[in-house]
Amino acid sequence: MTDTGRHTTAGPTADTRRDITADTGVDTDQDVGKSPERQIETDFCVVGGGPAGLTLALVLLRSGARVTLVERASSFDREYRGEILQPGGTALLDSLGVLAGARERGSHEHDRFQLVDRGRVLLDGDYRRLPGPHNHLLAIPQPHLLQELLEHCLRHDRFTYLGGTRVTGLLEEDGAVRGALCEGRGGRHAIVAHCVVGADGRYSKVRRLAGIGYTRLDVFDQDVLWFKLPAAGAPPRVVRVFLDGGNPVLTYASVPDGVQVGWTLPHKGYAALAAEGVDHVKRQICAAIPEYADLVRERIGALTDLTLLDVFAGGADRWVRDGLVLIGDSAHTHGPIGAQGINLAIQDAVAVHPILLASLRSRDARASFLGAFTLRRRPSVDSMTRIQRAQSRVMLSTGGFASMVRPALARVVSRSPVYRSMLKKIAYGDPGLRVSAELFVPGAASPA
Ligand SMILES: Cc1cc2nc3c(=O)[nH]c(=O)nc-3n(C[C@H](O)[C@H](O)[C@H](O)COP(=O)(O)OP(=O)(O)OC[C@H]3O[C@@H](n4cnc5c(N)ncnc54)[C@H](O)[C@@H]3O)c2cc1C
Repeated sequence: MTDTGRHTTAGPTADTRRDITADTGVDTDQDVGKSPERQIETDFCVVGGGPAGLTLALVLLRSGARVTLVERASSFDREYRGEILQPGGTALLDSLGVLAGARERGSHEHDRFQLVDRGRVLLDGDYRRLPGPHNHLLAIPQPHLLQELLEHCLRHDRFTYLGGTRVTGLLEEDGAVRGALCEGRGGRHAIVAHCVVGADGRYSKVRRLAGIGYTRLDVFDQDVLWFKLPAAGAPPRVVRVFLDGGNPVLTYASVPDGVQVGWTLPHKGYAALAAEGVDHVKRQICAAIPEYADLVRERIGALTDLTLLDVFAGGADRWVRDGLVLIGDSAHTHGPIGAQGINLAIQDAVAVHPILLASLRSRDARASFLGAFTLRRRPSVDSMTRIQRAQSRVMLSTGGFASMVRPALARVVSRSPVYRSMLKKIAYGDPGLRVSAELFVPGAASPA
């Protein structure tokens, strides 16, 4: 049985909150291996409806391709997953026509990024010095962005959305990937596709099913505990990292009416910390951000009010196989410093779009063809990894020597042309990347 029409198996509004720390991608179901109830034929099977997968689905649909997107969650109301967008990603979303709608759901602009030590601003990254119109950091909750992208995709009748459905296997023939098996609320499906795109995040199931190895690099000294506090008054337009209380703390205004806090702790140190109990953790957080101490005491009742981010970098050993491409976090994972994950995910989607269309036109989905994506993106991604490691060393090291030399080092660095060019790189990523709008098919982009 074939199906090429638009189809949704689960609305994107049901509530299924997940704990990111438990998101290991390990399969727990009993039904894997049962035969599929329905076969779907499509051009591209995109696995994962995060920023990478949904952006890619949209550009492919606008180019007239058939896309089936499989998303494990039934809802975008997910655990906090980061919401700071750099100007490069913001500009791409704008040129896709999704930025305004996503922002109407709620967002907040930040003009600068500051590193603060005992009241002194050591580093001041002023985004207003960059060329406009997107010369700011944009705090936008991921559900706002994802919901908007999905609604644009749903306007296309060549789109099949399988929400609340997860990929459990790959269809393979002669060593090439030909599709995916999935199951969920709508039953079990076999999706036969020209190409499968794994956009299913840092613990990618597709990557594992494809037998592609992953190298995890524990190159960061800190993990992060995230939580949100209520805030009154006009929200500040600055993202700040405070170094005062031992463990660096990140704070920024987040919509609606809140302040997002990321308190760093030694890498892999959570178990020992948690064993001391919630009051011990609260005391440390209060010492680091005394201005929020009352709110921390009032609002954090249990350790479950905090979301742990295991911070690591890493990468898939290969980003392509015959019939398969990995993009976003499934191909390369980044630490949160410098807010790059969403940016890079969107940029990957935009970069792989013309390559996938050319592959479809020529009916060639061999790794040798799809490898153009690796060549296009590898240098930018690797360079961003290096920048993040340098940022982490300069800004977050907590040793006595680091604290001693940091003010002088920060002064020198912030006045140097290297810093200005680094800020540009952090903000825009690959400056040559554009949406290939010339590939869009008139009429394929349905009006709202
Ligand atoms: C706590 C936290 C804070 C962060 N802060 C920032 C920040 O401020 N700025 C920034 O740029 N980045 C930040 N990041 C990183 C950023 O969230 C990711 O880099 C980005 O979301 C990657 O996008 P993606 O589409 O590749 O993957 P994801 O966003 O991880 O999306 C993958 C999708 O695949 C789905 N999926 C997984 N397995 C399956 C399966 N078997 N079948 C079907 N679907 C599946 C998942 O449900 C998910 O929706 C943060 C991350 C975390 C966890």
